[in-house]
Amino acid sequence: MSGPVTLTDVHIWNGVDAHYLDGADAVRIEAGRITAIGRADALREGAITHGCNGRTLLPGLIDAHVHLCLDPNIRAALEQGRETPEALRAVMAERCKAMVEAGITTARDLGGGTWDELIIRDRILAGELPGPRLVCSGQPITSVRGHCHFWGGEANDLEEALEVLERQIAKGVDLIKVMATGGNLTPGSTPALAQFDEPTIIRIVERSTAHGRHVAAHCHGTAGIRHATAAGVTTIEHCSWVGTDGWGVDYDEETAKQIGARGIWVSPTISANWKRHLGRAEFESRVRDNFRRMREAGVKLIASTDAGIPNVFHHQLPLALPLFAHFANLSPVEVLRAATSDCATAIGLGARTGRIEPGLCADLVLVEGDVLADLDTLAKPVQVWARGVPVL
Ligand SMILES: [Zn+2]
Repeated sequence: MSGPVTLTDVHIWNGVDAHYLDGADAVRIEAGRITAIGRADALREGAITHGCNGRTLLPGLIDAHVHLCLDPNIRAALEQGRETPEALRAVMAERCKAMVEAGITTARDLGGGTWDELIIRDRILAGELPGPRLVCSGQPITSVRGHCHFWGGEANDLEEALEVLERQIAKGVDLIKVMATGGNLTPGSTPALAQFDEPTIIRIVERSTAHGRHVAAHCHGTAGIRHATAAGVTTIEHCSWVGTDGWGVDYDEETAKQIGARGIWVSPTISANWKRHLGRAEFESRVRDNFRRMREAGVKLIASTDAGIPNVFHHQLPLALPLFAHFANLSPVEVLRAATSDCATAIGLGARTGRIEPGLCADLVLVEGDVLADLDTLAKPVQVWARGVPVL
């Protein structure tokens, strides 16, 4: 590890405040961590100085929902995973490199079939590969022939669900993923329908908690959202309020209030590919209305893309954030919190990343311009530091 580095002449957004830091224009990095924030003159001593020409420094971005194993260029889910294990790991490593170069310094992988992402996770952490810090769920627990059953996590009943869970723990996963409803990706699966009853999800959360693991629940339909909420999962993925009559039509106020009251995070997977929905007036107003009501009910949102599904590329979280702001009615600073400090807290990494604060990892992005006024500045980072190491 190289010696101390002081970044000077920066506007600092710390991941939390509604404005840039007052009276600070420098950040000192030592051994991968942020050690001081303040005036350049006070932080220079014994350090290499890196002048930043008045640019803006913010915490590295976090994508709360990706699938490293999936190729976004393949439309049919059953066509995925034909690579050799070596080729799969090589392409996962490429995706990780592109992610961190785009400013994504942490990502949560919510499912695959082979646990190869755990190998990539460990190699990135060891400094052998460039990439974001990863937290990984391994095989999602799903019903027989249910959503993403081809990843190997099928369970007929509670007993089998717990067997799948234990298998993930034995492989060294960081959290558990459960498919509470059907999904779009899987032929024969219905997003509106719940895949498990409430007692089963409750027991999955209890067992995961006993292992010290969070639970992320994939939920499109409202019945599944209700089960996951009652069980007290950590994050609800998608939260699409799908009913038998369509997307977003089955919003339930009481459930939304429960999600807010229980402090469950919603990860709505609004990707750059959502630009295709712009101008679909009815869809837009339904979705925006649901988000407005969720936020009034106290629901907290985090940034995520579901990268890996068709046309959702792993490195495009920065391009997704302006669309996230639009569809969820968020201000730039609210979106940025959802992609940094709040996201870190939601995925259990709040003490390590997500803010520019002494003691935290030096996961940083340098952009040109005023990010608090214009999220488009995220599209082309000038430099990225992942755990103190410059990646561009
Ligand atoms: Zn997903």
